[in-house]
Amino acid sequence: MENLKLNSFYDVIIVGSGPSGLGAAFKLAENSDKKILLIEKKKISSGGLRNDCKQNYTYPVGFPLEYWSKEEAHALLEEVKNHLNPKMEKRLNIDKYIQRAKKLDVNILTIDQAHVGTDKSSKLINDLIQKLRDLKVTVALQTEVKELNENKKEITLDNGFKIEFENIILGPGRADYDWMQTQMDRIGVTYSDNIVDIGIRVETKEENYPIVKDYYDPKILFPNKVRTFCTNSGCAHIVREKYKGYYSVNGHSLSKEKKANNLVNFAMLKTIRLTQPVVSGQQFGKILGQMVMQLSGGSVIMQRVGDFRLGQRSKKETFNEDLYDFKPTLSNAVAADLSLSMPAKILRDIWSALKKLDSIVPGVLHPSTILYYPEIKTYSNKPQFLNKNFMVKEGYYIVGDGAGTSRGITAAWSSGIRAANDILKNKK
Ligand SMILES: Cc1cc2nc3c(=O)[nH]c(=O)nc-3n(C[C@H](O)[C@H](O)[C@H](O)COP(=O)(O)OP(=O)(O)OC[C@H]3O[C@@H](n4cnc5c(N)ncnc54)[C@H](O)[C@@H]3O)c2cc1C
Repeated sequence: MENLKLNSFYDVIIVGSGPSGLGAAFKLAENSDKKILLIEKKKISSGGLRNDCKQNYTYPVGFPLEYWSKEEAHALLEEVKNHLNPKMEKRLNIDKYIQRAKKLDVNILTIDQAHVGTDKSSKLINDLIQKLRDLKVTVALQTEVKELNENKKEITLDNGFKIEFENIILGPGRADYDWMQTQMDRIGVTYSDNIVDIGIRVETKEENYPIVKDYYDPKILFPNKVRTFCTNSGCAHIVREKYKGYYSVNGHSLSKEKKANNLVNFAMLKTIRLTQPVVSGQQFGKILGQMVMQLSGGSVIMQRVGDFRLGQRSKKETFNEDLYDFKPTLSNAVAADLSLSMPAKILRDIWSALKKLDSIVPGVLHPSTILYYPEIKTYSNKPQFLNKNFMVKEGYYIVGDGAGTSRGITAAWSSGIRAANDILKNKK
């Protein structure tokens, strides 16, 4: 916990310094003289702002349709731009891909996007925090909110210190969904969680997926709710992330100043919407992740496309002794068999999408291409909101990915602005 003397009351407490918390904090600090406390349990916020930091500026990427219209999103995205000062990526020569995609019932979205890179993002975050401090926001880093106290507008910190508030904006992100769930139970907010994205991460040589030269992170929508997600090139790597009880793969890339490794990675995800009797997307994702842990001796798995097509598992030798000349960037993935670990419906739809992608960008299914599994993107517990500015109870707002109001940096920032606007509307 930071050595910072905190007051026992603030007009607004914001929990989490991810994009949703930052969006709310800037909006309030620049438009009122309210006493604001921003609390972050880590030294620096986690999530996409810190990792890779691709910012999407075109609706509907990152904006769940049930909460956002195009007009609402684009109006707030202008405010996000003012704080993040994005340098947009170029998008050239993609007409040929769009034409091919149309014939296959596939939609390539053309979006405005900027990329910071994992090596540069901590400076961006530290600069934003400093700007907030200059605006007189109290920022308490390495300080955890232990709980929201029932029947009182009050929180307790991890050291037992209690702070009262007039309004609280909670932006704890997706990773802390269980904390958020417990707090919603405590303050009597109802919620649901029935969606999860399950898929693979594809890694190949850039020459097999040249579309990235013209369109940095192509957003491609396939039939059966399958889509590409988070494409990385330049100096691109796959990582293994630890979740509660399982690992998920993910990808990131460094800024353009770093030496390129000429590899590309991207996810192919299928959105699963569960109905009775299985209603928890988080639980479903965890079960699948744990099955891979069992089959891989506690890790994630990978398979070469060549082996997958032949219906045979990949082995250690596949990666050490074959004729292909690129090594997996995730060295602790275990060579195995995707078909043994992935539910048939998901595998079928993703493979069918990959074949279509190979017709749009010929070469991506080169035998050397690696498929890593699982990539699991959980959705949070969606609270029952009282108004369209994400109020769940008088004086309580839940925003960002942790509330299902966004699925990306810019949308999370926008959701924080919306909650702040609601508080400003009621300014005394
Ligand atoms: C590895 C990775 C890479 C990603 N890459 C991208 C990308 O390139 N582009 C993109 O648009 N999206 C990306 N995303 C998604 C993106 O991170 C989220 O959409 C976005 O960060 C959501 O913002 P948020 O404010 O809701 O939550 P978060 O950014 O997750 O922030 C929540 C913050 O709250 C803090 N917190 C939680 N509980 C407490 C507590 N009790 N007390 C105090 N603090 C607490 C957490 O430490 C965290 O810093 C990525 C996600 C991950 C995990």
